[in-house]
Amino acid sequence: MDSSLKQTLVDAIRNIPDYPKPGVMFRDITTLLGNARAFRRAVDELVHPYAGGKVDQVAGIEARGFIIGGAMAHQLSSGFVPIRKKGKLPRDTVRIAYSLEYGLDEMEMHRDAIAPGDKVILVDDLIATGGTAEAAVKLLQQMGADIVAACFIIDLPELGGRKKLEALGVNVRTLVA
Ligand code: AMP
Repeated sequence: MDSSLKQTLVDAIRNIPDYPKPGVMFRDITTLLGNARAFRRAVDELVHPYAGGKVDQVAGIEARGFIIGGAMAHQLSSGFVPIRKKGKLPRDTVRIAYSLEYGLDEMEMHRDAIAPGDKVILVDDLIATGGTAEAAVKLLQQMGADIVAACFIIDLPELGGRKKLEALGVNVRTLVA
């Protein structure tokens, strides 16, 4: 990936100190999404290795993973599968609990959204501790998905998320750290 693209993306991401609480630097991608060139280039770069190959589904993590994942699915001519917070999906689901900084949460997907052996790309805007993405990986693996890669625009490497996914055998792709 060329350094001018990296700079374009870094410049397009807004950093909000002490949000949502003191000590957290929130990486706000709404400014990247609102920048037509940066959004286009980020999605092009994320899908680049998979273009022309067969990806059955892009699975996006609620909520920012829906935006990036929808664009990637369109580009790859694949389907899109939402991985949602519990209680939002109307049909039979598979669900997994995962730990957040304070307490537990659950995410789920429709049981019929993935067929065993489907080639799936997992996507979210950012990977920090990797707890969210790890739960999504386990959910997809439970469904028999063949996870081609997990893609994120932003990596916070000091929080160890990438290593956590790689330890599960997942190929991780990120654009800026
Ligand atoms: P984690 O489970 O720790 O990897 O956290 C990843 C999830 O939390 C993603 O859905 C991110 O959108 C969100 N997130 C965590 N840290 C940040 C941050 N510093 N700025 C923006 N979003 C974040």
